[in-house]
Amino acid sequence: MQDCIFCKIASKEIPAEVVYEDDYVMAFEDIHPAAPIHLVLIPKRHIPTFFDIKDEDEAALGRLQQAAARVAAKLGLEEKGFRLVSNCKEDAGQLVFHLHYHLLGGRPFQWPPG
Ligand code: 5GP
Repeated sequence: MQDCIFCKIASKEIPAEVVYEDDYVMAFEDIHPAAPIHLVLIPKRHIPTFFDIKDEDEAALGRLQQAAARVAAKLGLEEKGFRLVSNCKEDAGQLVFHLHYHLLGGRPFQWPPG
């Protein structure tokens, strides 16, 4: 999608610190980290929100969970774990309308979130 910042990162039009990439998904460092490790995981296809997921996205979204665990293990988070969260629309504070997960690690987190 033309004006989507994450599509531009996926197509390498805009640079990012990419830590994982395959045909379906990409993981890169968040530009404003909220934890010692803060990655953004995206499907490469433009899906604005969870409400726009189609049957054909099943493989990419499955791959996203798998990539999260693999990247977290590679970054040394296997013992202490990590948080995987996604903000969907206004009440959750979604700012970029290209479906994504935040992978946060390297410190303890509170629950419930604010
Ligand atoms: P949201 O509130 O939509 O769940 O979060 C979007 C996230 O994308 C934010 O944490 C923000 O810091 C990150 N972000 C926004 N623009 C860019 C960018 O151009 N590059 C990178 N690496 N992260 C971005």
